[in-house]
Amino acid sequence: MDHFLYRDGHLHAENVPVAEIAAAVGTPFYVYSTATLLRHFTLFDEALTDVDHLVCYAMKAASNQAILRTLAQAGAGMDVVSQGEYLRAKAAGVPGERIVFSGVGKTEEEIRTALSGGIRQFNVESEPEMEVINRVALELGKVAPITVRVNPDVDAKTHAKIATGKSENKFGIPIARASAVYAHAASLPGLDVIGIDVHIGSQLTELEPFRLAYEKVAELTEQLRGEGHDIRRLDLGGGLGIPYTRSNEAPPLPVEYGQLIKDTLGHLGCEIEIEPGRLIAGNAGLMVSKVIYVKSGEGRNFLILDGAMNDLIRPAMYEAHHDIVPIVEPAPALEARPYDIVGPVCETGDTFAQQRDMPPVASGDLIAFRSAGAYGAVMASEYNTRPLIPEVLVHGDQFAVIRARPSFDEIINRDTIPEWL
Ligand SMILES: *Cc1c(COP(=O)(O)O)cnc(C)c1O
Repeated sequence: MDHFLYRDGHLHAENVPVAEIAAAVGTPFYVYSTATLLRHFTLFDEALTDVDHLVCYAMKAASNQAILRTLAQAGAGMDVVSQGEYLRAKAAGVPGERIVFSGVGKTEEEIRTALSGGIRQFNVESEPEMEVINRVALELGKVAPITVRVNPDVDAKTHAKIATGKSENKFGIPIARASAVYAHAASLPGLDVIGIDVHIGSQLTELEPFRLAYEKVAELTEQLRGEGHDIRRLDLGGGLGIPYTRSNEAPPLPVEYGQLIKDTLGHLGCEIEIEPGRLIAGNAGLMVSKVIYVKSGEGRNFLILDGAMNDLIRPAMYEAHHDIVPIVEPAPALEARPYDIVGPVCETGDTFAQQRDMPPVASGDLIAFRSAGAYGAVMASEYNTRPLIPEVLVHGDQFAVIRARPSFDEIINRDTIPEWL
């Protein structure tokens, strides 16, 4: 459920007409709904109420500081995957003890920054990384809390580019090696080995892969405890999928996911962490764009938009589907026709949808990409020297620009020309 609904024939973000935002900031832009963000966070938080837990929002999904602060004020921690994200979370006011550091290639500099600024734990992905964290911790006179990310070798049944839990993926250590790796970690004085981490992929639409992974984590917890490790925190990653179309089967609900966690791991008495990103932000954001031209081709009609693949890359990168809706609610009698919906970038990949049924659309009309809140703005680029598009946050009947569109001068002046030219 989200808070982007037609009212009196006009699409609203909460109580604000989307057309009003478009008039104020220009197109294209991203708009997020505070109520939707909070609703999704709360669904996870409530799904785990009877266990000691922390929901750490995977901020790579949408990392604007206004979004981070909204969630942090509601009690969320953050899952970060880079120094930049760590510093951004701190800047948004998230305390270090609520920040988890994930990622397969943490550099020494990143580790130093997080240890100096305070960190809840590092999710370690390899033995060489473990040794670097140990060394940096000892240099700083600190002890680094760590979990080890294990790769449970389960098939997440999701798009290949976002599956992470098979043995051929680059993530984590094989469960079969856990015993040796934990023994190694325990021998390093700069580390405090507190738990286990697992994250099997993104946009999972079934619970079964989670069940298989979490059963393996339960078994491993008992085994490692038997080997003398004080396993007291389980980080279960993110990955719960969202409905990208209103027609397709609904993925499992957070409450069902929470129940699965309690069923598979509740008896262990561990603190539980989860790292949802997409489910919190995905359906809390739209990308709004304007139709520049309607072009009739050989048996095809194209809608050429002012938004492009550099603004929302998911269709080009993952063959992702986004529902695309007009801002003015079409009259029920209007007959839909198929359009190819494309951006202006010089690549055939700059196609958002092919042969998509839409009500009749004219040049100048506004349309919205639904479910664009996660992995949208954060993956944008300035390809074709197109400015990063603004982000807007709605809260009830207010809205604010939370990242402004840069001017062309700002973009162009970032280059420097060497003296010899
Ligand atoms: C990407 C990622 C997440 C978030 O995944 P979603 O599918 O957005 O919920 C969580 N944890 C880790 C380690 C990740 O890499």
